[in-house]
Amino acid sequence: MAEKVVIIGSGPAAWSAAIYAARAELQPLVFEGAITEENRLSGTLPLGQLALTTEVENYAGFPAGDLQHFLASALSPDRLQYLNLLEEKHAVTGPELMELMRQQAFNFGTRIFTDDVVEVDLKRRPFVVHSREGHKIESQTVIVATGARANYLGLPSEEEYKNRGVSACAVCDGALPRFRNKPLIVIGGGDSAVEEATYLTKYTSKVHMVHRRDRLRASKIMQERALGNTKIQMEWNHELAEVLGNDKEGVTGVRLNCTAKEGCKTAERELPASGVFLAIGHTPNTAFLKGQIALTDKGYIKWTTLFRTATSVDGVFAAGDVADDYYRQAITSAGTGCMAALDAERWLSAKGIH
Ligand code: NAP
Repeated sequence: MAEKVVIIGSGPAAWSAAIYAARAELQPLVFEGAITEENRLSGTLPLGQLALTTEVENYAGFPAGDLQHFLASALSPDRLQYLNLLEEKHAVTGPELMELMRQQAFNFGTRIFTDDVVEVDLKRRPFVVHSREGHKIESQTVIVATGARANYLGLPSEEEYKNRGVSACAVCDGALPRFRNKPLIVIGGGDSAVEEATYLTKYTSKVHMVHRRDRLRASKIMQERALGNTKIQMEWNHELAEVLGNDKEGVTGVRLNCTAKEGCKTAERELPASGVFLAIGHTPNTAFLKGQIALTDKGYIKWTTLFRTATSVDGVFAAGDVADDYYRQAITSAGTGCMAALDAERWLSAKGIH
């Protein structure tokens, strides 16, 4: 028999949708993604982008405090082991928040496949969802909550030194010995770039933040954090032209080009560095949809009705960053996840499917 709701994804949108769908007795099935090297390299491991961050200070309901006992009592031991419980921290961490959401969805009866969806057929009813491990699941409704992944610039030298000094995740890779006490480079001027640069100052005393303009895009509080940190040196009006390195050491530096008509002393310059961290925005994870659903020019799923999570395919709903290139916050993702579950429930009930 066909499922009532299949949820694809495992970030805040997916788990919030699952919690609501499970409590509405729709027995949701979640494809949380597979734990593979390919997904690690592309930044699409289970639990989404929040699992790649450190402390989350702006998710309502989690003020600074000691969560150790709560985490130990809320999470099952087999999941608790994945968490690196920090001794000194000021708020809940992204991985903790995601484990808590996953656990909450599971407690209400959500079934979870640790597997990637590789293809969907949204042209027939019920819809069909195909997974990497060979599952072929029919479902009356689908909630797509696959999020977005970090962008790279596409330079050949960047590709050459991926995993040998080039990364898009300071939290995942920053603690590696190769990055310790050596100058590091962060590319970008948004909140992510500030977050990455600030995080890296734990391991080194010099982080160059390379930004193509002369002012940051980051929120005011994050700007103050970057500009007030003596370990962060701003490299305004510059872009990455080439990652420098060799086979033995990996990354050894960068060549930067000046982007300002006036204002740089030289058109290009080199900086020594053992690591380059990209923080230049994201691409939505929609490849598996293969043209079956309307997308925006930037590739995000289009919400077709104001204040609803409906898409161009009746019965398919979208939630979180895969449909939102504007707010992109954990809490807005969770909110649209809840909306998608309510939309799916109402859609099913209007069709008399209980
Ligand atoms: P973003 O806000 O889109 O910023 C991307 C940055 O990369 C911009 O500064 C952009 O430069 C630069 N950039 C883009 N393409 C580039 C290229 N080809 N070459 C050089 N530079 C390039 O992305 P984000 O920082 O990942 O943030 C995404 C969303 O998540 C935002 O809504 C943000 O508020 C949120 N977020 C929040 C937190 C937090 O609150 N703690 C942390 C992380 C992210 P320009 O400025 O010139 O366009």
